[in-house]
Amino acid sequence: MTFPRIAIAGAGLSGLACARVLQLHGLEVTVFEQESAAGARPQGGTLDLHGDTGQVALRTARLDEQFRALARPEGQQMRGVDPHTAEVVMDDTPDGDFRPEIDRGQLRGILLDSLSPGTVHWGRPLADVTRAGRLTFADGVSEDFDLVVGADGAWSRVRRALTGVRPEYSGVTFVEFGLDDADRRHPALAALTGQGTMMTKIGGRALVAQRTSSGHIRCYATFYAPEGWATGLDFADSTAVRDHLLERYAGWHPDLLAYLREHDGGFTHRPLHVLPVPHAWTSTPRLTLLGDAAHLMPPLGVGANLALLDGTELATALATAPSAEEAVRVYEAGMLPRSIETAKACASGLHDLLSDDLRSMAA
Ligand SMILES: Cc1cc2nc3c(=O)[nH]c(=O)nc-3n(C[C@H](O)[C@H](O)[C@H](O)COP(=O)(O)OP(=O)(O)OC[C@H]3O[C@@H](n4cnc5c(N)ncnc54)[C@H](O)[C@@H]3O)c2cc1C
Repeated sequence: MTFPRIAIAGAGLSGLACARVLQLHGLEVTVFEQESAAGARPQGGTLDLHGDTGQVALRTARLDEQFRALARPEGQQMRGVDPHTAEVVMDDTPDGDFRPEIDRGQLRGILLDSLSPGTVHWGRPLADVTRAGRLTFADGVSEDFDLVVGADGAWSRVRRALTGVRPEYSGVTFVEFGLDDADRRHPALAALTGQGTMMTKIGGRALVAQRTSSGHIRCYATFYAPEGWATGLDFADSTAVRDHLLERYAGWHPDLLAYLREHDGGFTHRPLHVLPVPHAWTSTPRLTLLGDAAHLMPPLGVGANLALLDGTELATALATAPSAEEAVRVYEAGMLPRSIETAKACASGLHDLLSDDLRSMAA
């Protein structure tokens, strides 16, 4: 087959995994990323990579060794804590099912380092895409490609050209904050968190704390809230946000409220949006979607795993199918049913996450 001109919109996990495997097969690809540089924005918390999805993708990308060098098997520890007594009532470290944690930033770094220099064009926000494969950037410049891969996340521009469907608010909000150098500066909270994830919850409110590398603890206050709940709350004013959350979690044990009282830095509002289930489209030769652009789900530990697998599966199909059009069909025939099934499970899992049962701890 003649080599198609392939553009990937978005240098997140799905887009980079796809680019890596295309390059392993000698195919040319350009990744357009809106951010100005790799380190322009902190990449968030920690991800557990599953044996049947994320780890398969990393093996296909021949990056398994680099992953294992940074992965934290001890990060699989899951603790459930009683919100009123702060007693640890559940403490599991799964054995057998090897799902080590890795910081999202480290994983993205592994993928970026694996690409040929110049593959990612930074500071190139995409403004519009047509079904004919024409990309128009925010500066008005247009370029034509044989295949445009939308790996541009939750608010994908490429998806607009394919389905026009927009994510909806799930009714659940995360407020993210962190504790730096926790073992030294916040020893009691470090001890309560353990090596992996600590969760405490009751009455539709949860507090989740997760260790990342370098002694940081990333926390999420998670609760049901109407879409406009934060109207009038200025997220630049950390004191106001902390006081609001302390009121929302009133009655919880002081040792747990200490996560909020001792936070370092600011709070980030992350209302959870999801794509409707099922979200699918009729295959079209020049456009397809990967990861969150295709199947934005609640963050219950699968999104990054599926994003990696989508990327490597599309790339493998492009390297082996007789035409790009056929490769897109093959990829979508595997990806769409898999993601619809997972999205259904995640939709009910989101409510388990906020149930009073401390054993429902998917996060
Ligand atoms: C709080 C939280 C915790 C999570 N925890 C987990 C977990 O533990 N395990 C797990 O598997 N998943 C987790 N997820 C989900 C996971 O992060 C996502 O599913 C995954 O990152 C999706 O990867 P992606 O490549 O599709 O999109 P993204 O990682 O969002 O990457 C999209 C990229 O596209 C770029 N972009 C966007 N628009 C444009 C544009 N117009 N032009 C050019 N570039 C553009 C963005 O800047 C970004 O770099 C979590 C999500 C959240 C919010």
